[in-house]
Amino acid sequence: MHYLIASPHNGKFLVARPGARAGMQISRAMYEQVASIAETSSPLPPWLLDGARTAWSLDLAGASMRDAVLVRPETWLGYGRATYEINKGCNFNCEHCYLAERKFDGLPWDSKARLLRLLRDAGVLWLQFTGGEPLIDRDFLDTYTLAYRSGMLIEILTNGSRLHRLEVIELLRKLPPHKVTVSLYGATPDSFDSLTRKPGAFKLVKKGLIAAREAGITLELALIITKHNAHELAAMRSLADRYGAGRTEYGTISPTYTGTPEPLAAQAPGFLDKTSVFKGCPAGHTFFHVDPHGLATMCKVGRENPVDLMSEGLDGLLRLPRIADAQMLRTGGCGGCQLSGTCRVCRPLAKAYQEAKAPLNTYCQHGSEEAQ
Ligand code: SF4
Ligand code: SF4
Repeated sequence: MHYLIASPHNGKFLVARPGARAGMQISRAMYEQVASIAETSSPLPPWLLDGARTAWSLDLAGASMRDAVLVRPETWLGYGRATYEINKGCNFNCEHCYLAERKFDGLPWDSKARLLRLLRDAGVLWLQFTGGEPLIDRDFLDTYTLAYRSGMLIEILTNGSRLHRLEVIELLRKLPPHKVTVSLYGATPDSFDSLTRKPGAFKLVKKGLIAAREAGITLELALIITKHNAHELAAMRSLADRYGAGRTEYGTISPTYTGTPEPLAAQAPGFLDKTSVFKGCPAGHTFFHVDPHGLATMCKVGRENPVDLMSEGLDGLLRLPRIADAQMLRTGGCGGCQLSGTCRVCRPLAKAYQEAKAPLNTYCQHGSEEAQ
């Protein structure tokens, strides 16, 4: 199994080590050198041996290129990143969930494997597994393994409820992910179980956090702040610091991506973060989202005119940039707005808020004007 991946990425070239944050940016000439000896018994070039020692304290002297470095080829599509919603099904039923429906369905294993090969051939280096809850998909372990062996750097976005399982811990130890992000929905069984509407959820997730820490698996914690847990934010932070290497806080709750308002009821007053101006997003151009059936869209929220990767293959992705631009340029209910240059939300998200008839102050600057 490879120790390093050498790959093109967004017009540049890099060497990465699965499971490690540090990476090396290399020149085209260096990339072409390793590409020319990929899959051979040649030793690694001296600059790569030195780089591996410096970046990862990794001594690969004596190793062959074939055994140590997986070289990803240049591709005609420049998609370096993708998110894969392997299954919308979930064992929790969170009040704030942005999925309107969480059906347990998706591709059979053969088609999942074909989809992963398509993602690889589209150039995807960074792959995020999401759901629903990805770890409850029956093919998750095999799908993860194939993505890893294809030379992808993997993030798993999980609710943590299956993290304690031995087969999961062993897989993550053997084939280290780039990142595992666990959503934290509270610091006590009361708040956690009431937001997830799943008795025993807190206990289950805590078991997973402990198992991952004992196995030396690095976690990031995503603190989801809602009306159920805002009063225990300090305790959530210390829980995250105990089990995670990093934490991020999310206090703004969005409608479902289909534009229904149910999740908004979980919003904690005072935690709406609409401070930063939306400055553009390369969704559909350098990254894309794939749903459980292999339908590719610009992102998780902007899901109009999906491209059926399973029937159209990679050629279908050539249409995605224009599909994304159409969603980004649509003004919808915002036509003629004088404040559009300082808007806080992107167009696909604004559309979901408008369809959900969300209170203006939850997403729009005119909401604060009205309040004044
Ligand atoms: S764990 Fe995630 S996918 Fe599952 S219900 Fe909660 S928010 Fe939705
Ligand atoms: S929701 Fe908006 S900001 Fe987020 S990826 Fe999609 S287009 Fe970009």
